[in-house]
Amino acid sequence: MPGGATVFVEDGVIEGFESVGCEVPADCRLTTFEGTLLPGLFDGHVHLVSDAALGSLERAGSLDADAVDNIIEHSLRQQAAAGVTTVRDLGDVGYRTLGFRDSPRTDLPRITAAGPPLTVPDGHCHYLGGVVEGPDGIRAALSEHEQRGVDVIKVMASGGMTTLGTDPFGVQFEAADLRTLVEAAHAAGLPVLAHAHSLAGIRHALAAGVDGIEHFTGLTETGIRVPDEVLEAVAGAGVFVNPTLGVDREALASMPAPRPGIAAALKRIGLDVETAQAARLQVLQRAQNHGIRLVSGVDAGAAPAKRHGIVSLALAALTEGGFSIADAVATATTVAAQACGLAQVTGRLQPGLAADILVVDGNLEHDITALQRPATVLIRGNPLTPPPT
Ligand SMILES: [Zn+2]
Repeated sequence: MPGGATVFVEDGVIEGFESVGCEVPADCRLTTFEGTLLPGLFDGHVHLVSDAALGSLERAGSLDADAVDNIIEHSLRQQAAAGVTTVRDLGDVGYRTLGFRDSPRTDLPRITAAGPPLTVPDGHCHYLGGVVEGPDGIRAALSEHEQRGVDVIKVMASGGMTTLGTDPFGVQFEAADLRTLVEAAHAAGLPVLAHAHSLAGIRHALAAGVDGIEHFTGLTETGIRVPDEVLEAVAGAGVFVNPTLGVDREALASMPAPRPGIAAALKRIGLDVETAQAARLQVLQRAQNHGIRLVSGVDAGAAPAKRHGIVSLALAALTEGGFSIADAVATATTVAAQACGLAQVTGRLQPGLAADILVVDGNLEHDITALQRPATVLIRGNPLTPPPT
């Protein structure tokens, strides 16, 4: 809001707005901040059980519950300090994130959670404990996820670059099994998000009727390709796309070598990291032109360059790809809230919604890097103390 605003908050909810310098009742505590006011951010794809150290996601599957909880708490703190007030967890072990989701604490981001992601035997992220086989196995896993109270189902529709022996260019699951999975989830009122790096995996997921596609890389043997007819189908079906951008370039540069699976995938299509990124951004620009709703999430925790608290870098990457700052911010606020089924709860500065509020240092209208300088963060009206560093 140009010129600033006074935001009234009561019991964790936004009550209303007035101009700066308005009359404030004597029993109101008034705090003033400089900078840009916006809704708290979402990171739409996190792995709270993983602290981004090399191999930490793989290790999460063999840790005891206390060790996992410690990592989850640490991950959430890093997200909160970066201005993230809601995370969507898409790769849990032992349903540990649900305890945090259901906790009344207001010093940690709100969580929407998938539980262990579903995959095929020896498939991508099999070590997180979500392996299923055949229609009966799929229905049993769905019913367990439902009973545990997850918010969303995550399924690995293609292999992944970080699980060696799986094929990020191919598909996982028989088409009929994937459809069974989506139907069972929808019958339980749960949306389904599909991990898909390959173009084949994107088509596979779309045909099964998923609600969102994660990564959406468009890998084919001849490069990164997502034809117009696929973009039209994604837009027509109202499927959300999260390209999982956002890389800590310093951490990437300090790695001795690219991870073998990523290096192999790039070699297979004859691209390097930069040209692959440019090709992906072109796909996303076309996706936006087709009216596809984009969500930002980092895949935080999954790798050293994917630490918790860098969703601002995913938004910066979108602006490098030609997106306006407002459109980029929407992918981590209003659109992310829609994608998480939380549009009536958070994601906008509006009376009646949660006081999930971020102030960043600088003028965000012209400077996307302001998001990397959170000045204060309120989660359900509770200011983080001490202020984030
Ligand atoms: Zn992930």
